[in-house]
Amino acid sequence: MSLAHLKSLIRTIPDFPKAGIRFRDVSSLLVDAAGFAEAVERMASIAPQDIDLVAGIEARGFIFAGAIAGKIDAGVLMVRKGGKLPGPAMGRDYALEYGEDRLEIHDGQIPAGSRVLLVDDLIATGGTALTSCRLIEDAGAEVAGAVFLIDLPDLGGAQRLRDSGLDTHALLT
Ligand code: 5GP
Repeated sequence: MSLAHLKSLIRTIPDFPKAGIRFRDVSSLLVDAAGFAEAVERMASIAPQDIDLVAGIEARGFIFAGAIAGKIDAGVLMVRKGGKLPGPAMGRDYALEYGEDRLEIHDGQIPAGSRVLLVDDLIATGGTALTSCRLIEDAGAEVAGAVFLIDLPDLGGAQRLRDSGLDTHALLT
């Protein structure tokens, strides 16, 4: 399947979650078995090698992280929004356009020296991904790279990640 066809499976919802935003909706790709398989295969193939854990960012990142982990024999680490994890957790707050948000991971679930691959459906400003990286580093692990299905390059997030030294890849722009 071509990248152009893959891209055509992602629909755009105007004015969501608020007026003026064009939301790239991956649910239309997820329900297409061949499209989802192709996206996962391609995301796994552009990721760095020798990954121990795939960190998926809530919520759509979980879907891609789990499928990629299955392909590369890695575990899955959930990066969750604040207050959702049942066990003791460590977190970081980060700024949104309006207000703040928080991301958390469970304490003690990343073995020392692990190489972690960060995965999400989309990178925009990069705030979510950069905060996730810092959090994983706080836990003593190495973020070996990051893979996204979609990059919105006008918002500069992937460039911010690359500027911070992270091996960053996206399938579609
Ligand atoms: P950032 O922190 O890079 O500005 O925003 C990226 C985060 O917001 C990701 O977790 C992503 O899932 C979500 N996000 C922002 N805009 C969109 C969008 O248009 N479509 C999708 N699917 N997710 C988005």
